[in-house]
Amino acid sequence: MERVSTRILKLPRFGAEVLSIDRAFKSGPLFRLVGAAVGTLVGMLVLAGYAVHFEPAWRLRPDLPATHPYTALCIVLLGLGLLPRALRSGMGWRRAARGAIVLAIVLLLIRVTVPLSGARLLDAMTPFAKTVAAERAAGKTLTMGIAASWALLLLGFGEVLRWARRPVLSQVFAASALGLLFMAVTGYLASLRSFHGTIAPATLLGTGSLAVALLFATPRHGFMRALTASSAPGRLARVLLGCSTAFMLAMGWVMSRRIDAPGIPLPADGALLVYQTAIILALTWAIVTVITMRADQLDRYRGLAERLLERTATRDALTGLLTRNQLTRLRSAGSAGSAGNGGGSQRQAAANLLIDLDRFRTVNEAFGPAEGDRLLVEAARRLRRVAGDQPVARLGGDEFAIYCARTTLAEAERLGAAAIQALATPFDIRGRRFRLTASVGIAHAERSAGADLQQAADDAMHVAKDLGGSRSVVFAPEMHEMRKLQIELEQDLHEALRREGELSLHYQPVVRVKDHQILAVEALARWEHPRLGPIAPDRFIRIAEASGLMVALGNKLMQIAVRQAAAWEADRPGSCPLMNINVSSAQFVDGDVVSDLVDLLRQHSLSPDRFCIEITESVFATEPAVRALERARRLGFRVAMDDFGVGYSTLSQLPRLPLTSVKLDRSFIVNATESEGDAAIFGAITQLAHALDLVVIAEGVETKPQLDLIVACGCDAVQGYLFARPMRPEALKVWLERGYVGDASPSQLA
Ligand code: C2E
Ligand code: CA
Ligand code: CA
Repeated sequence: MERVSTRILKLPRFGAEVLSIDRAFKSGPLFRLVGAAVGTLVGMLVLAGYAVHFEPAWRLRPDLPATHPYTALCIVLLGLGLLPRALRSGMGWRRAARGAIVLAIVLLLIRVTVPLSGARLLDAMTPFAKTVAAERAAGKTLTMGIAASWALLLLGFGEVLRWARRPVLSQVFAASALGLLFMAVTGYLASLRSFHGTIAPATLLGTGSLAVALLFATPRHGFMRALTASSAPGRLARVLLGCSTAFMLAMGWVMSRRIDAPGIPLPADGALLVYQTAIILALTWAIVTVITMRADQLDRYRGLAERLLERTATRDALTGLLTRNQLTRLRSAGSAGSAGNGGGSQRQAAANLLIDLDRFRTVNEAFGPAEGDRLLVEAARRLRRVAGDQPVARLGGDEFAIYCARTTLAEAERLGAAAIQALATPFDIRGRRFRLTASVGIAHAERSAGADLQQAADDAMHVAKDLGGSRSVVFAPEMHEMRKLQIELEQDLHEALRREGELSLHYQPVVRVKDHQILAVEALARWEHPRLGPIAPDRFIRIAEASGLMVALGNKLMQIAVRQAAAWEADRPGSCPLMNINVSSAQFVDGDVVSDLVDLLRQHSLSPDRFCIEITESVFATEPAVRALERARRLGFRVAMDDFGVGYSTLSQLPRLPLTSVKLDRSFIVNATESEGDAAIFGAITQLAHALDLVVIAEGVETKPQLDLIVACGCDAVQGYLFARPMRPEALKVWLERGYVGDASPSQLA
């Protein structure tokens, strides 16, 4: 049990929790206030009584001893010092309190020590010397005055130790003061001669209240806490303490009634008995403290562990958002009470938004899980702000959900857009700005045709991902079928990897602008599904990445590509252009794509300088991938940055990356022909890349105006339907034999 709790305690993010629980254990201020107030008031009453010589007011019963004014003064001083800090906020007050306690201690020391050397000095120092002398003459000597002084002295020391943050010692002193008072009461109850002029009720009340106040003001690790432990040892200890106290009180009563048990005569003076009992009590008290202290600690840990466990069951430990289970509970409670009203998109009903960060994995791998966590915490904070009163949950990993018990579809869509917007603001990690996008799936009860909202939102979110992410999609019933198909495809991809012929590569020429020479061919994956026909590569690549199949798929495609290159090389030595191979970041993270490729080339006796590895910007987010690519460059491979301009825009990092070329994304070209500003950016990036000795390739060139612009900007090469579509190797062979691309629509060859 303890092992579990300490393990939890060690988790740094629970630190605040531990602190707040510890704080809750401090019951100090109220007790302090009451104790100090009672003590001070009693002391002042006594002093006032002496001052006006109005005995009955401060002497409860004439046969009881009176509180010495000196003692009363000390009670007042200690009481002022013990006032809670809240009441003496200013520095001046605090210093005055400390001064009061120090003064009280000095006075008490005099009070305790002077009688040993004769009472004259003491009396001379007392402002009420006459009254005291009268008391003394009347035989009402304050024999327990010394005991009272001791009690107060111990209290004063206890308070000083509390300042010095010695809680256990402080409590020991406070408890000793109480013990002394307890002994005095018992002695008095037993009417023992040596307790004759026993402690005055006013002293008892003042000192007692101060002692209790001090006990409660320093509850940490002290036996006051130990005494409240609810564990078995704690209960046993309390029984022990209770029994010994009852025994002592009973003995006192027996003594006072002088009831001799037959055969056990009472001692002539019961003082010895009282002292013995006091020692028994003190011993019991010590044992109680020791055994319950441990039990109490365990108790506290258990309580803490329980709270933390409860919290982790309902709250995500990292972000403090709700957990998946808790959200499910909320949803089922919400769906029981919600009934739609209104009409159309104005209809109010439950809605579930599923928010998944795009490419979060690369962030995690690039910066390490600690930074990834920090990013998640920040993302959670932003989502919570966007969601307002609606509950937000972290479903695990980088998946979040917002649940609206009653909302319109339009409102839910607005919320989805706001979430995407909030996450689009760059995150700062280790001084680097990082952009994230998110895919949002929205399921509204009105539109989900009875489907489970969570499942529906999940389906919609996957559609958003399939559409390229960074968007929100509202669930429609047919999406469920699509999702099912997706899962089926995942299974079929396993099969396709095993079978020959289903997966193949098409090749698209990369053409030099200057002379239309074929500089390279890009190998593009194709999947001919036995039942569904061709599946788009973006789609099955994403499925492979999501299901951990990318390394296997990548290796399979690399094999095909290398085999093809070897075949062309064997056919016409020296004719094979550069072969561009697309490599996904998963192939760096989960596998060692460079070594795999080197092995393949060795098998076919091909040189790495005939190959170009195409990666996207996200690959550069991971340090191991950068190292692998540096190695690839040393081995002679070329490295192209694909889809440049759409990802993290690593423009500033371009110089330090091991690249040989950049491929400007198709969207660049499309925009550049439509806006002058984009055309200027296009030109500037080309110039920058040239300054870094990089070959610039424009992708997706479809029209003559686009080509003209590219020529004007000084791009080195183009790839696009204008020249050639991706084609089967047999078709490409014709092109390769020619070696260049003519103006007569060559794409018919595809
Ligand atoms: P990508 O690497 O950017 O490949 C270029 C894509 O642009 C190809 O789409 C190509 O057919 C298309 N394209 C070429 N010229 C034009 C044009 O003029 N207009 C238009 N609209 N599109 C053009 P494809 O073959 O559908 O491949 C899509 C994506 O799938 C690729 O984009 C790549 O990211 C991924 N992919 C394909 N094969 C592989 C592979 O073997 N491994 C990996 N990891 N990814 C691959
Ligand atoms: Ca590519
Ligand atoms: Ca591309």
